[in-house]
Amino acid sequence: MLRLNYWISLFWASTLLSFAYALAGCTTSRGVVQAAPVSAEAQPRVEQSDLKLTILYDNNPHTEGLETRWGFSCLVQGPEKTILFDVGGESSVLLGNMAKLAIDPQVVDVVVLSHVHHDHIGGLSGFLRRNNEVTVYMPRSLPQSVKQTVTTAGANLVEVNQSLRICPNVYSTGELGGWIKEQSLVIKTVRGPVVITGCAHPGVVNIVKKAKQMVGRDVYLVVGGFHLCWTNSWQIKGIIRGLQAQKVKKAAPCHCSGDLARNLFKQAYQENFILAGVGKTITIPGAFAGP
Ligand SMILES: [Zn+2]
Ligand SMILES: [Zn+2]
Repeated sequence: MLRLNYWISLFWASTLLSFAYALAGCTTSRGVVQAAPVSAEAQPRVEQSDLKLTILYDNNPHTEGLETRWGFSCLVQGPEKTILFDVGGESSVLLGNMAKLAIDPQVVDVVVLSHVHHDHIGGLSGFLRRNNEVTVYMPRSLPQSVKQTVTTAGANLVEVNQSLRICPNVYSTGELGGWIKEQSLVIKTVRGPVVITGCAHPGVVNIVKKAKQMVGRDVYLVVGGFHLCWTNSWQIKGIIRGLQAQKVKKAAPCHCSGDLARNLFKQAYQENFILAGVGKTITIPGAFAGP
């Protein structure tokens, strides 16, 4: 009898336990179902998504069949807005390279111009003839004629002075430097900020410091012109040490960086050096994944 009572109580105990377990499971799954839309609302980019950078204009060759020309342009895909950073010197070269890469100019939502030099802004009017449904962010110090090119084409103009947010995860450093004012692009990724520079006239180390200060994390990657074409190896090594001291993980110097600097960066950064040129794509998988 005692033995029977023991089995009966064991049966009820296990039934109660599984009921409690099922109830807890229900609550948990209901909690998840309820939590999802809330977190999706608070943070629009919860799904994994990649950051893709494509160099459309550069004086360094990379992809066969594309035209190389002195200047710089880089397409940024992955953030909420598709961004064209600089437009090179000639729109025919820019649009020709885009056509060869099967990139429709209509995909661009935002154009960011780094600084006044022709090899970065010369392609603007030609590009706007193909797509004027864009917002163009340019340094406030740029001449009135460049601003008129935007407004006459019917595009939106944003004059940048201080650092600002362009769209979720994408920022401008604001105008930096003295004689030649320049803005750089800062993209917040899970691996740290990615910085895109035009010519880096304010100094690539200064730009990196600004990005680091804005995001509060070490820079993951710097891409673009580092303006070291006319710099000797001793000075270049000093700049490499400066970037390493800032804990910059990867470097992709192109445009006005020069072959000497590219070689020295390759030696210093080794597997974290990216050889960039026209047509080069750099993809960061899951760059905007939630925390
Ligand atoms: Zn320049
Ligand atoms: Zn340049």
